[in-house]
Amino acid sequence: MIIVLKPNHQEEEMHRIVRRLEDLGLRAHISKGEHRTIIGAIGDERILREVPLESLPGVESVLPILKPYKLVSREFKPEDTVIRVNGQEIGGRKIQTIAGPCAVESREVLEEIADAVHPLGVHFLRGGAFKPRTSPYSFQGWGEKALKYLAAVRERTGMLVVTELMDPRDTVLVCKYADIIQIGTRNMQNFRLLTEVGNIEKPIILKRGMSATIKEFLMSAEYIVAQGNDRVILCERGIRTFDTETRNTLDISAVPLLKQLTHLPVIVDPSHAVGRADLVPSMAKASVAAGADGLLIEVHVRPEEALSDGPQSLRPKEFATLLEECGRIAEVVGREL
Ligand code: PEP
Ligand code: MN
Repeated sequence: MIIVLKPNHQEEEMHRIVRRLEDLGLRAHISKGEHRTIIGAIGDERILREVPLESLPGVESVLPILKPYKLVSREFKPEDTVIRVNGQEIGGRKIQTIAGPCAVESREVLEEIADAVHPLGVHFLRGGAFKPRTSPYSFQGWGEKALKYLAAVRERTGMLVVTELMDPRDTVLVCKYADIIQIGTRNMQNFRLLTEVGNIEKPIILKRGMSATIKEFLMSAEYIVAQGNDRVILCERGIRTFDTETRNTLDISAVPLLKQLTHLPVIVDPSHAVGRADLVPSMAKASVAAGADGLLIEVHVRPEEALSDGPQSLRPKEFATLLEECGRIAEVVGREL
């Protein structure tokens, strides 16, 4: 249920409505927009059928949210969510780029990659410290050592750190070093992990499960937001289809569709979507044209030596061309890159 407050409501009236909802065993989620304040009543709403909330002072209207996902829906919050993180914004006019290696391999290689992408105007450095590998015999990441290397690059360059959290037991550790926490495709429906990151104060990049429907994707985002962390960025990263020429199939329609259904920012990871460096630039351009708020791209100085995902990693020069071309498309769609 959403409770829309009158434009001129008193602060005390809002608190009284929140207390009333809490007395009924519901949780109140306040969203203050530019023009309107809305309270989302979360929990078993059946209880509200008998309660005339409309008559409470300060209430303009009470509306049901028809979608199964509530807090992340456009119905709940019509305006776009802009996520602010250490001086940068995701979801605003600027399309942000997150670039870096699949995994942090060594301090030297990470520094080289950061020094190649940072001058191109990239503010976010990605790199896995804990890697969700299909084979237990593949490189699993260097754990805290890798997190320290990422933090050292931030210290030196000011780039913000994006890295994956796989296990709730590592939350404190990863939060100590990361600016944005990534939840990978394989964990999109790890509900314990989602609840865990719903209780932290860092923005979350939630990657679409490789076989998840749009509704399932949004329900997973709802898990995080329902806990109180509303800084969630959705990432389309390709879904499983019958084709084997590409690693996955980039669901480009997911971008405008998600932008219709939710107020959360939507970014695209073309690297994991196609799994081949030659197709990444076209998919990045298509993503910008489709309305993506950001790109997450794997870049490596020597892809042939990469410990993971070398075949899909762009060299800095290829990445620079991609940015330049995406920048021109961004202008056409009224954005900047
Ligand atoms: C990654 O970004 O390094 C990654 C493993 O991505 P995904 O979870 O989308 O496969
Ligand atoms: Mn990867």
